Amino acid sequence: MRSIPNPTRAHLCTRLFAFATLVAPVLAAAAESQCYGTVSNGRVEGSVKLPLSGANFSAYSTLAATAGRTHVHSKVADILEASYKTLAIAHPNTRYVYGETGWPSGGRFRPHRTHQNGLSVDFFVPVKNGKGQSVPLPTNLTDKLGYDVEFDKEAKYGEYTIDFGALAEHLYQLDAAARARGAGLALVIFDILYLPRLFATERGAYLKEKLPFMKGKPWVRHDEHYHVDFVVPCKANTP
Ligand SMILES: [Zn+2]
Repeated sequence: MRSIPNPTRAHLCTRLFAFATLVAPVLAAAAESQCYGTVSNGRVEGSVKLPLSGANFSAYSTLAATAGRTHVHSKVADILEASYKTLAIAHPNTRYVYGETGWPSGGRFRPHRTHQNGLSVDFFVPVKNGKGQSVPLPTNLTDKLGYDVEFDKEAKYGEYTIDFGALAEHLYQLDAAARARGAGLALVIFDILYLPRLFATERGAYLKEKLPFMKGKPWVRHDEHYHVDFVVPCKANTP
């Protein structure tokens, strides 16, 4: 083996050092986050920013993500990633879109009433277009990044129809990934008008029995998105 000349060694060292400084923040972010308080009065330390996209999913808005609106507790990030991976294998052509989650340090997150401690995630409904293909629901500025989209009684919005099978499969995989990590789902909010259609899917019976759907009327209609709060132990929210 030829020995490496000194100048090259020095160069290698510099490059390794540069590499280490680049990697260090990533490693730091991989540590477990700490949440405080509740979803409606809390905060989070060491949160993780969700990836903008993956094989089968994307964020609702690059702009909003850049503004810092897609941070979660590290355990929630793990659960989301694992469930998207499972879905990508079983249903590679189904597209998913996630929405708002929370600020890097949590706290008040307008216009939401919760989303304060890294444990709340909004997901936009998976839809099929007029040709029956699974496509991301368009989420742009004219319809408040998707939140102003209104589905009718038939679960239609223009050419788009809610894909209840894909939605049920997502909730099922979120629950499975959460349980596998000693976590769980604390609350699922979705328009009660659509629950019978969700429960009529292949995963429906399981979801109806195991998942904590909000029974009452939420303060905003949840037709274009479903909200999930995860169960992760948090410390008391001391100022
Ligand atoms: Zn929400």
